[in-house]
Amino acid sequence: MNEENEKNVLGEQVCLITGASRGIGEAIARRFYKAGARLVLLDITIGGAEKVARSLDPSGDRTFCLQADVTVEQEVQAAVEKAAGRFGRIDVAVNVAGIIRHLPIEKMSLEDFDIVVRVNLTGTFIVCKAVVPFMKKQGRGKIVNIASLGGRTGRPGVGVNYAAAKAGVIGLSQTLAREAGPAGIYVNAIAPGPILTELTKQAGPEVFAKWNAGRAVAKDGVPEDVAEAALFLASPQSDWITGVTLDINGGILIR
Ligand code: NAP
Repeated sequence: MNEENEKNVLGEQVCLITGASRGIGEAIARRFYKAGARLVLLDITIGGAEKVARSLDPSGDRTFCLQADVTVEQEVQAAVEKAAGRFGRIDVAVNVAGIIRHLPIEKMSLEDFDIVVRVNLTGTFIVCKAVVPFMKKQGRGKIVNIASLGGRTGRPGVGVNYAAAKAGVIGLSQTLAREAGPAGIYVNAIAPGPILTELTKQAGPEVFAKWNAGRAVAKDGVPEDVAEAALFLASPQSDWITGVTLDINGGILIR
């Protein structure tokens, strides 16, 4: 695709991405920018998001960074309103912000369970709740929620908190797809397999290798693989797809 056609894939749509300061969120921000989007980068610490934005768009014309903790409804609500104020609309929301705490159940405190569910699942709910009214007014919107292979099949070492939260993200996405579909809002999830980022480095190389066991293809997963899938689900190219969970894992899970 030449550069001009590439820019038309998202055609100046306003795309809000949470957890955009590094890893998968950063890759999605870079890919969407290349596809012509105007970006709202939301992160708990704004410095990383600002660095990504500056490297893409030194003038700041097509990027807007906001600090918000996705678990705090007032912060997210205020951030989404500011974003809509700046760009006039919210076309796409990609929920990427997430954390993991790798612990066996005997060592997992209630706090460990709650915080992982709160960031991964409640945070996704809070952002969806904040953007849906804007999308309804526009008569159109696309939401892409990042789940995980861990929420599809259960995986050794991801923690029951993380698996439960990500399975919840899938259920939330399916139900919101039905609820908001009549208003022109599409809601899909992506369930990536293991990708080496700050989040998965914590597990160590042995656990990481276990997660990759049985993979059909030799290629390692990289954040850009998730970004391509997110672009498809955010763009008009997926206009009859809603309520799906797209597994991208190099064939670890084939069913
Ligand atoms: P990562 O490198 O750790 O990035 C996570 C991002 O989320 C960071 O920018 C982080 O901000 C932000 N964040 C964390 N808590 C937040 C909060 N309360 N509010 C707002 N932002 C917050 O992780 P990643 O590997 O790219 O993962 C991104 C998503 O993909 C997560 O949902 C993860 O569960 C999912 N996923 C990852 C893999 C994988 O193998 N890596 C596989 C399946 C699914 P700071 O940098 O400021 O802390």
